[in-house]
Amino acid sequence: MSHPLLAELATLLPANALVTAADKLAPRLLDQRKRMQGQTLGLALPSSTAEVVQIVQACRRHGVVIVPQGGNTGLVGGATPMQANSLIVGSDKLNRIRALDPAGYTLTAEAGCILDDIRTAAESADRLFPLWLGSSGSARLGGLVGTNAGGLQVQRYGNTRELVLGIEAVLADGRIYQGLHTLRKRNAGYDLKQLFIGAEGTLGFVTAATLRLFPAERSEAVALVALPDPEAVLALFAQAKAQLGEVLTAFEMIDAEALRIMAKHFPSIAQPFSPIPPCAALIALSGGEAEQVLNERLAELLIAAGHEDAALAQDGSQAKALWALREHIPAAQTREGPSIKHDLALPISAIPAFVRAARAALAEQLPEARPVVFGHMGDGNLHFNLGWPRREDFEQAEARANALLFDLTLAHGGDLSAEHGIGRLRLAEADARHDPVERALMREIKATLDPDGVFNPGVLV
Ligand SMILES: Cc1cc2nc3c(=O)[nH]c(=O)nc-3n(C[C@H](O)[C@H](O)[C@H](O)COP(=O)(O)OP(=O)(O)OC[C@H]3O[C@@H](n4cnc5c(N)ncnc54)[C@H](O)[C@@H]3O)c2cc1C
Repeated sequence: MSHPLLAELATLLPANALVTAADKLAPRLLDQRKRMQGQTLGLALPSSTAEVVQIVQACRRHGVVIVPQGGNTGLVGGATPMQANSLIVGSDKLNRIRALDPAGYTLTAEAGCILDDIRTAAESADRLFPLWLGSSGSARLGGLVGTNAGGLQVQRYGNTRELVLGIEAVLADGRIYQGLHTLRKRNAGYDLKQLFIGAEGTLGFVTAATLRLFPAERSEAVALVALPDPEAVLALFAQAKAQLGEVLTAFEMIDAEALRIMAKHFPSIAQPFSPIPPCAALIALSGGEAEQVLNERLAELLIAAGHEDAALAQDGSQAKALWALREHIPAAQTREGPSIKHDLALPISAIPAFVRAARAALAEQLPEARPVVFGHMGDGNLHFNLGWPRREDFEQAEARANALLFDLTLAHGGDLSAEHGIGRLRLAEADARHDPVERALMREIKATLDPDGVFNPGVLV
């Protein structure tokens, strides 16, 4: 332990709270997409807010920067330390559920709690915490808050920003921001907790959050509908929202190429349509009603919309299989080969025009790219990914595809990240394409809360 920070931390923290062994650090240094290889002095694993304060103060004294890390499942490299002079602060041991109030519909959890465990704790009190992502088994609350995670039920319940009532965070000067309110209504000026949500670890270390809970859901109805084009998907979405109201939990779009690679790489996940249709919509309803009631409401929608030939899940295992078809698309893409990924935000009604324009522009300018288009259509969030045939010129193709798709996205009133964030991956593009006043305000907020740049330099701002 040569660095003086490590020597000091060794005196401040319990023995197992400081990790420097190369093999233990290795998985913490590689980002989820295996595109960034980081470096660090070590990993600190505090068990309490007081220990986080001590770590932050020690890092300041030694001029070492802090990279907050949760489950390391983020997709934009925000949790990867790229400076040798850095310390990863992991939330793993901050893993207590501090309070659960079923009558008040709130749960307070520490930053290291894994999303699945939070959902299970809520379930144990007959309540629902609705955040649900492909990474629910690994992502931790501090990371979910840090990225303002979205996922599969935003359509109904909103993203993390809408699910958090209060935040506790350790600031760069070692003060604790005690904003762990459980209040639904609190009108007291600037909503400071929102600053930490989506801040990607740049303004402080989130140690705990109070979350909104909802009544437990007792049933689900799921259908996959074959459709001729994105215009038909949009029309069905508009009708579903009007006819179903609150019980509409998810509305996902899946294109033919996504279904084709699913059939190729996951043949055990049954596909209801043959031949593969140009487009499909996955519609999910959930609520406290009996399953039959939800199934009837979904069937009524499909009849009213003229889509009687849709595949309507008859039981829980069929519903799971339809969801699996949607959830395994990223894995199918990995098996298919290199892919250029985009997490685009678009006005919902602009999605069909955008998809057409993007396909046409790609066919002309990057004809080897194979669009795999899917995503949370009902949230205005498309994962417009591109399969690319080779590794050799992947980076050049990616740069061209990004320029083309981001230009088109902005021209359609959209933005370059809907749920994954900016991180390191999209920093240059955010600086180049976002409103300069917005970027300047973010830098000014960062300079106010973290004047010496202790937290996550090179990420977001
Ligand atoms: C299979 C898969 C599916 C996914 N699906 C979705 C999806 O549907 N929707 C979606 O939005 N994302 C999705 N993601 C991305 C990812 O899971 C989320 O971004 C998640 O919120 C990250 O949580 P984490 O604990 O892994 O955070 P990390 O990756 O460890 O960190 C993410 C960011 O948060 C910061 N951070 C971490 N902990 C703290 C803390 N205590 N205080 C302050 N800042 C902190 C980090 O510095 C970093 O900038 C998916 C990822 C995978 C691998």
